[in-house]
Amino acid sequence: MNPALAVLERKLAGPLGALVRTDYALAERMPDLGRTILGWLTELEGSVDQTTLAGLREPLLALRDAVGTRRRELLREFARRWASLKGGDTNTPSQATAVEEPPFVDPGGPLTLEELGRLPLRRRRGVGPARAERLARLGLESIAELLLHRPRDYHDRRRLLPLNRIRVGEEVAVIGRLRSLEFKRARRRGSPNRLVGLLVDDTGTLLLTWFNAPYLVKRLRAGRRLVAFGKVDAYGGGQLINPDFELLGDDEETDGGDPLAAGRIVPIYPLTEGLGQGFLRHLVRRTLDEFVPRLHDHLPAGLLEERGLPDLGRTLEALHFPEAPEDPARARRRLAFDGLLTLQLAVLRSRRELAGKRVAAIEPPGELVRRLAGGLAFELTAAQRRVIEQLRADLARERPMNRLLQGDVGSGKTLVALAAMLLVVEGGLQAALMAPTDVLARQHKRKLDRLLRPLGVPCHLVTGSVKSRSRRTAEEAAAAGEPGIWIGTTALIQSGFQLQRPGLVVVDEQHRFGVAQRSVLGGAVTNVLVMTATPIPRSLALTVYGETDTSVLDELPPGRRPVKTRWLRRKRAAEAYRHLCAEAAAGRQGFIVCPLVEESESRPLAAAERRHAELREGELAELRLGLVHGRLDPTEKERAMRRFAAGELDALVATTVIEVGVDVPNATVMIIEEAQQFGLAQLHQLRGRVGRGSAPARCYLVSGDELTAEAVERLKALCRTGDGFQLAELDLRQRGPGELLGARQHGVPDDALAALVSDRRLLEDSREAARHLLENDPELERHPALRRRLETQYPKGGFGVAS
Ligand code: ADP
Ligand code: MG
Repeated sequence: MNPALAVLERKLAGPLGALVRTDYALAERMPDLGRTILGWLTELEGSVDQTTLAGLREPLLALRDAVGTRRRELLREFARRWASLKGGDTNTPSQATAVEEPPFVDPGGPLTLEELGRLPLRRRRGVGPARAERLARLGLESIAELLLHRPRDYHDRRRLLPLNRIRVGEEVAVIGRLRSLEFKRARRRGSPNRLVGLLVDDTGTLLLTWFNAPYLVKRLRAGRRLVAFGKVDAYGGGQLINPDFELLGDDEETDGGDPLAAGRIVPIYPLTEGLGQGFLRHLVRRTLDEFVPRLHDHLPAGLLEERGLPDLGRTLEALHFPEAPEDPARARRRLAFDGLLTLQLAVLRSRRELAGKRVAAIEPPGELVRRLAGGLAFELTAAQRRVIEQLRADLARERPMNRLLQGDVGSGKTLVALAAMLLVVEGGLQAALMAPTDVLARQHKRKLDRLLRPLGVPCHLVTGSVKSRSRRTAEEAAAAGEPGIWIGTTALIQSGFQLQRPGLVVVDEQHRFGVAQRSVLGGAVTNVLVMTATPIPRSLALTVYGETDTSVLDELPPGRRPVKTRWLRRKRAAEAYRHLCAEAAAGRQGFIVCPLVEESESRPLAAAERRHAELREGELAELRLGLVHGRLDPTEKERAMRRFAAGELDALVATTVIEVGVDVPNATVMIIEEAQQFGLAQLHQLRGRVGRGSAPARCYLVSGDELTAEAVERLKALCRTGDGFQLAELDLRQRGPGELLGARQHGVPDDALAALVSDRRLLEDSREAARHLLENDPELERHPALRRRLETQYPKGGFGVAS
């Protein structure tokens, strides 16, 4: 077997095995898996051909912003492509040989959360293989994961009211038996179906009405006992409308009189098919009883006392079985503080490491930048000038630059980066610009060539697919230490390529890269500028980079107009295509973006290819139509992009390969099909492909009818605002920062992420606490449990600042 494939096979065995075992349900709980595998794939460069590699990468790239079941589809698709690649290879070990860590054996005595994280739930009392698998679907495989599983809600069932005592307007919890249940079809078109149940207890009766909930017919049956919870509506003399409810006695552990289900504040957990609330509650209860007495808190007691925060045992108890309604909030606050503190410790630690490093100060007169600016057809914006000054000051220091540059799509980040690179070249050193995809690297190269040629600055392209001769020239110039600019993909950081005298590495669209890959370039310590258009909420950016190391391009070049955005249901999509035709008739262009994989049929690329064929025959028959997707040969892709950029195509049907950075100012229409399947950041990015010229642009979000509430919120938000930062806050609320800066990957809990956005005080408090801890105990020797936690959550060099 090809040795590179064999190495990858071994690495993939663990995660792919876990995915297969859970029927890919784990996909939704492993936010950074895609990025990790993308990192591994770079090792295949040179061993398999580019087309194959692009094919493997495509579903993983799409994964970045995918949500829900779409993640499963994409990972399944990756597994299929990987399997078929291996298929050509004989004697490949099967996935069943996945190597697993040796099991952790409970040593007895006190246990930390880390150790509980290594105790499996499988085979504990009441957890057979079937249940273990369902628990894994919820991401619950260890004792720690179970104990930290957040209820999604709580019902205050301390006071269960007899049915003859309830009053209109009150929130009530009632227990009874369903005497009857009837599904009533709407009498008129447009009015809702109803499901009406009559609940009885010893004292009286109460009507329960659910609107438009046909799926409940399967779950509810006359004769069942249940707890219902809701506000008493005046209609019909008092009834519960769309009440939350829970069936009782549906679980072998309960016989209808479950003490954990009533007479107290009851946790309501997120569930999956085949797992009941009752089962989960009892499992959590037993686990708390067994392990809380043995729990060793990794946070020093003093730290918690000063802040009035509960210790870990009480936190977990309050999270699951609160005694008072305010208990869960206190528990979450402790967990948020905990998560933020570890994050701050990790950031401080790597910042301290970096502080010891020195690079050559770069202080040229700035002649090249002046000539660049003089040759532009436009003026730099004030924001661009300000950021260039910040970069100049960074370069002039011996402290390595580690800067985050945020700028919404179209804000002109490339020019700013170019200015910094020119300073480096003028200073006699080498600069690299790393782009996330081939298409983008080539586009950068094309654009920068035009600007650099008059300046006489050499510019090389280093991508995996560049054929040998120019690649060899690029490598030789790099190794010879000649000043210049190298533009490429991750090929820049692979063996075989090395800058002899690196002065600056610019990473464009940072979220596509593994953090660890960032600063490498032959292992040398150098200046790093990370640019992103995915707006990172300010609080998070500041936490990881610090105030003085964050730059923002908060001004768009003049003349840009906001992209008018409309959300259309599929049956009205014709409107979008009519507009595209009209624009094309006026000499302008547009994009049609399709999701990579359709939910229903998971044939790869079905969507883009099929839509291309359909549109060519139908709505867009009059237009010159191109097709771009990741499976295409890079030269074909490049050709289509080039023809589009040159105006030889009116419209381009594409997968999200065009998402980042593609810059064709004449494009004024963006149509996104199945828009509900995309994440918010990705939609914003896609929309940013238009509205770059002076003509007004439009974006159409075409959706199916079956939308989650969150998808509706996303689509509405996009129509409402073009402000990337506002959208980022919503995105953060919906998903957590996901792959941003790798925070989720490192187990920053949701509470901490939420606090990053909403709770300034806690954020600052945690920073102070971290600083204080490290001041007195730099290696955390007096806090071994906390140190362990830090090391497992944030392995050295893996986070935030350059390693
Ligand atoms: P992004 O920040 O999204 O990477 P780009 O660097 O691709 O943005 O710039 C978007 C477009 O705006 C490019 O065509 C670029 O040439 C143009 N541009 C950059 N700066 C200015 C400016 N100050 N005035 C007018 N156009 C500009
Ligand atoms: Mg860009």
